This record gives sequence, structure tokens and C-alpha cells, in this order.
Amino acid sequence: MIEIDNVHKSFGSLDVIKGVSLTVNKGEVVSIIGGSGSGKSTLLMCINGLESIKSGSIRVDGTEVHAPSTDINKLRQKIGIVFQQWNAFPHLTVLENVMLAPRKVLGLSKQEAEAIAVQQLTHVGLADKLKVFPGKLSGGQQQRMAIARALAMSPDYMLFDEATSALDPQLVGEVLDTMRMLAEDGMTMVLVTHEIRFARDVSDRVAFFRNGLVHEIGAPEQVLGNPQKPETADFLKSVH
Ligand code: ATP
Ligand code: MG
Repeated sequence: MIEIDNVHKSFGSLDVIKGVSLTVNKGEVVSIIGGSGSGKSTLLMCINGLESIKSGSIRVDGTEVHAPSTDINKLRQKIGIVFQQWNAFPHLTVLENVMLAPRKVLGLSKQEAEAIAVQQLTHVGLADKLKVFPGKLSGGQQQRMAIARALAMSPDYMLFDEATSALDPQLVGEVLDTMRMLAEDGMTMVLVTHEIRFARDVSDRVAFFRNGLVHEIGAPEQVLGNPQKPETADFLKSVH
């Protein structure tokens, strides 16, 4: 479970997150939507400790992410993150890229890491690309490789930050299908997305962010289909 409790975050004098509380239960899929600069990416970075917070708390399975005593690298192993783009190591094959963290971070043997990498790459539909270099993959394939790379660490949580927004429209579907498969497998997910229809399909709850706050949250059919706040409705009109 991810428990975000009254979190504030600033960059210098700029208050970016202004008191966000949000609980993501095991197996739940929560989508975050909202305008540019509303603090969505920053919140994801705070969840896995890539950014500090000013006040409040974030706990993952009861462990305080920002407590000095927390082994953040250990905690991060259970939180996979996929960004808009991931720069794979160009001189390593797809398989070698995915094997890297299990070998270096988890200390697995070559055989163990390879077995896991093959399994995850197969899972995302890249079984035929193991020996290929990342530069030869399409954008959609690269994003699926990034998902496989995160999954190879056996995370309990997956965070997605606009994983499809850098893709050509015809490549978006294959990545969304992979994310949908993960959701159906019961992965606990927090996804920042502009794909409203997808959010509606896969999410248990949708949070609309505005000015560093959760402006509206609820079931997708409510927030996306029948928003209670005029600002939510205006935002949805702007992205359709
Ligand atoms: P988008 O939809 O454009 O990705 P977002 O909701 O993800 O927007 P954030 O990236 O979280 O927004 O940024 C929130 C605010 O914090 C913005 O005003 C941004 O300029 C600022 N910000 C983000 N990262 C930094 C940083 N490292 N240093 C200073 N300001 C930052
Ligand atoms: Mg962002």
C-alpha cells in the first residue's frame, strides 16, 4: 500500500505540491490526470524517493520513504518506474539491457538474470528482439522494453509517467495493451496519463490534479464521465 499523507513539496520558492493525500491499495490502479505543471510527475518522483518532500509523509508498505533511516535503494527495488522515454544502453542488446539491474542491483547470476529477462521480454511481446540493439526498436517496442526492464526487478508497484506520450499515435496501442495486461495481472499501479479512455478502462480510481492538489478523485465513471467540479470538466474538454 502507498500512503501519501498531506505532502508538500517545493522547488525553491515554488510550491509544487500543496498538501496531497492519496492512498493506493494493493492491486489498485490509480490514474492521475491534470494540466501541465500541476505536479503529477513530481509526485511520482516523491513516491520513489527521487525527490525530497518538504512536509507530510509517504509510506510504502509501512516504510517511510523520506525517513533518513530508510534504505531508499532497497525500497526502490519494489517500485518500478517507466517514463516517457528511457535511454537504454545503445551498445548492449535488448536482453543485456534488461539483465543489467537484476545482475548489478539484485546480484543475480548471469543465468538467473537472463532467465528473468527472457521471461519479462516475452511477457511484453519482445521474445524475437532479445539480441537486437535498442536503436533498432520502434518507439513502442522501446517502451515495452522499458516496462520489461522494470518488471525484471519483480516490483510490487509500477509507476508510469506518460509512458505513451512520446510515441507516434499508431504505436500507443501496443504499449497501453501491455499496461492493461499488467493491471489485469493485479499489479498495483499509479499512472500519469493523458489517455483518458484508457484511464477510464483500467483505473479503479482517477485523481484530477490541479495546482499541486488533488482537485477531484473518484471512480473513473464519475471523475471522467460526470465530474463534480467545473475545473475537471474544463480539463476533460481540453484534452478531448
Ligand atoms: P506535465 O503534464 O507538463 O508533465 P506535471 O504535472 O508533471 O506537468 P511537474 O513536472 O510535476 O508537472 O512540475 C510541477 C512544477 O514544478 C512545474 O512548475 C515545474 O516547472 C516545476 N518543477 C518540476 N521539476 C522541477 C525541478 N527539478 N526544479 C525546479 N522546478 C521544477
Ligand atoms: Mg509530467
